[in-house]
Amino acid sequence: MKKIVVAIDGPAGAGKSTIAKLAAEKLGYAYIDTGAMYRSVTWKFLQTGREFDEAFISELANTMIIEFKPEAKINRVFVDGTEVTEAIRTPEVTAIVSRVAAIGAVREAMVEQQRRMGEIGGVLMDGRDIGTVVFPHAQLKIFLTASVEERARRRYKEMVEKGQQVELAQLQEDIAARDKQDSERAISPLRQAEDALLLDTSDMSIAQVTDKILQLVQERV
Ligand code: C5P
Repeated sequence: MKKIVVAIDGPAGAGKSTIAKLAAEKLGYAYIDTGAMYRSVTWKFLQTGREFDEAFISELANTMIIEFKPEAKINRVFVDGTEVTEAIRTPEVTAIVSRVAAIGAVREAMVEQQRRMGEIGGVLMDGRDIGTVVFPHAQLKIFLTASVEERARRRYKEMVEKGQQVELAQLQEDIAARDKQDSERAISPLRQAEDALLLDTSDMSIAQVTDKILQLVQERV
């Protein structure tokens, strides 16, 4: 059977990674979490303790090695051989990842790797610019969204379950700020591709969204 490229974009906390991972497993496709790549660059930069410096961060992005090792429940992420699966999700990384992701040379380095990972098809890639920039000819493009209130509630539940201390109102503010930064940046801003299907998941379960995506893939192979 033909294996296509599925591009899933959308704002923070819309459920992209949970759904993309589930759908990829069912399809036997590779799942590429491009947000994890920008988070990895941010993590690497924070490790150095240096001041924010675009040229320095770009150099890091061009020399570091990011690897994914998918397992049943989680997608492990490694930077230069060190596991960073958990480390790239900390509030410190989340707070500045959008600034790092706005640097043109960082994006060029990531996009090149993403295209290489997806060139043979059979991939489900999630991010902000997959349908608009990375794979503008993807056979299926989905723009996944949900109200900011619902996205904050989901993230809150997820974090509380992990034993993390968070405030719902603060989370909602952070998500809204990140959406704004991602949507207003000059290079590859977050936006729905003209030929992407809009899926508002505010009132849908994870299973319903996953099934919908599987059905859309079936229609294209
Ligand atoms: O998907 P996630 O929320 O982990 O992404 C973290 C950040 O990485 C986003 O807020 C955005 O700034 C950046 N990003 C991006 N382009 C992508 C994926 C993520 O700019 N394709």
